[in-house]
Amino acid sequence: MNLKELYQEIILEHGKNPRNLRKTENFNKDAKGHNPLCGDKVHVYLKLNENKKIEDISFEGSGCAISMASASIMTDLVKGKEEHEVKEIIEDFLGMIKENPELKSKNLEEDDKTKLMCLSGVKQYPMRVKCATLSWHTLTSAINNTQEEINSERLD
Ligand code: ZN
Repeated sequence: MNLKELYQEIILEHGKNPRNLRKTENFNKDAKGHNPLCGDKVHVYLKLNENKKIEDISFEGSGCAISMASASIMTDLVKGKEEHEVKEIIEDFLGMIKENPELKSKNLEEDDKTKLMCLSGVKQYPMRVKCATLSWHTLTSAINNTQEEINSERLD
């Protein structure tokens, strides 16, 4: 199995069995996102504790395999991390999806980097980039408590 096949395998697996697809009880931050081009919808729920650590994160939604896999991998990866670390990871991921060849964050294990790199294949397909980044922009909105629905058509 080559790297491309491994990446596809991981995406399909997460797309089929998304992690954290539920609603967090007693969440204290949330945000919704919508990608009208593809029809992806996501609602991210966060429970931050008093130390600004993500105690729990979950999502509800529906959409294509890429959007579901991305939300699944994202929620899996940021759980237990502190808010400032999460912001750095989001920036790193969005940078990688748009232009950077690799991830730079020190807050990511090698394993986690591999999972995120699975989504790097979408770079060649601008429409798919919006599928992959939807849940990440929505997470940012939840953290910042903007109370604004993310619409991927209005993002660059
Ligand atoms: Zn999609």
